[in-house]
Amino acid sequence: MSGFTYVTDTASPVHPVSALDYLPVDQMRALQLHRLQFIVKYAYDRVPLFRRRCEERGVRPEHVKTLKDISLLPFSMKTDLRDEYPLGLQAAPMSEIVRFQCSSGTTGKPICIPNTWNDIEVWKNGVMRCLAMGGVTPNDIVQVAYGYGLFTGGLGLHYGAEGYGCAVLPISGGNTDRQLMLMKDLGVTTIACTPSYFLHIIDEGHKKGIDFRKEMKLRHGFFGAEPWTEEMRDKIEEYTGLVAHDIYGLTEIAGPGVGGDCIHRTGLHIFEDHFYPEVIDPETLEPLPDGEQGELVFTTLDRTGCPMIRYRTRDLTRIEATPCPCGRTVRRIARINARSDDMLIVHGVNLFPSQVESGLLKVPDVLPHYQIVVTPTGALDTLEVKVEVTPENFSDDIRHLEELRKRVGAAVKSITGLTAKITLVEPHTLPRSEGKIRRVVDLRKANA
Ligand code: ADP
Ligand code: ZN
Repeated sequence: MSGFTYVTDTASPVHPVSALDYLPVDQMRALQLHRLQFIVKYAYDRVPLFRRRCEERGVRPEHVKTLKDISLLPFSMKTDLRDEYPLGLQAAPMSEIVRFQCSSGTTGKPICIPNTWNDIEVWKNGVMRCLAMGGVTPNDIVQVAYGYGLFTGGLGLHYGAEGYGCAVLPISGGNTDRQLMLMKDLGVTTIACTPSYFLHIIDEGHKKGIDFRKEMKLRHGFFGAEPWTEEMRDKIEEYTGLVAHDIYGLTEIAGPGVGGDCIHRTGLHIFEDHFYPEVIDPETLEPLPDGEQGELVFTTLDRTGCPMIRYRTRDLTRIEATPCPCGRTVRRIARINARSDDMLIVHGVNLFPSQVESGLLKVPDVLPHYQIVVTPTGALDTLEVKVEVTPENFSDDIRHLEELRKRVGAAVKSITGLTAKITLVEPHTLPRSEGKIRRVVDLRKANA
């Protein structure tokens, strides 16, 4: 890795794992093209579905002469993984496969991704670069409270943090009392879990009278696997005093660690030497210029178990190619607050749960625990937002509650444009989650 010039905003040396974050852009593009040409040929020779689709378009691997030529290649989607379930897209022989990971199935039948040892290393590298970006050091004690197993959260953070030299507490999700006890007794400095589960941990701690700022040693949190807003980040930081980092990923492309934010919070840097990003118009499928919002698409440049070429994530974002004050040259995506699968259409208006969250959390008297219920009522559906309020506010004073209800309604309307029925509820009454939370109950759907 010597020979590259690093540019950083800190006096501290760059951790070796982050070297490629600072690669001059032309060198990065050369590396990406080299890897793209390799992976396209590799997949063409080994994955019948990919080869067939290329043949239908008259494309052969040698047609990829520049990075732009990626647009000649066919897209892939979750339905391909389902149609070819379980292992139709596997490219490496079973002798090279060391682990299966499956998506959590938030939106249907799980999909199964076979990983080679090299794939695990690539994934681990992404997580380590996220930790480095956040300022974690090998002195940190990392409590991995993402679920372990088929879901990528637990094992992803585990291998990354261990590889980075941290002391890992592999506690997985659940058993919140024990989470709190070990967090305190070991002096855990870094927590990794879904933001909704961390809120639950905080909530349980508060019930026990724990003051996180005084009694815990938490300095970092790595939160992801589900959308969460800047307002939620502020709440988490206010309650605990830690720095809340955003970490992004998906099973099909590796797991957590495809990208993450640096201390400047200008979006999520993508480790694009492994994961080549594009943003496309989901209707026309045409690539969009940097800065325009569309569907995020990834090509795994060096994963060999199940290479994904132009995989449509269904996550909506834009690419930020402007320089980041941290000096990293790898491009960024805006935080993922919208996933096509989560979009609700209410009164003809497109609505994402994160918009409701942004609105709600602008009101200081509510807690970050909420639920959205859509009920079919004749011609017009009812959008109800249930939200917990602080114990001080949950009083018998009807006039006060009514005034708060109006403020919350106005805050939600200012972001969503929709008039919602606001229901203020007692603290600790809405459902909690130990993994990914389900915020929406859509009673218009048969299986809600
Ligand atoms: P599933 O699709 O079943 O939820 P995964 O567990 O692989 O499967 O989850 C990946 C998805 O989780 C991403 O496509 C994205 O929608 C969401 N996600 C992951 N990290 C983040 C994050 N930091 N912010 C917002 N959404 C995220
Ligand atoms: Zn940065």
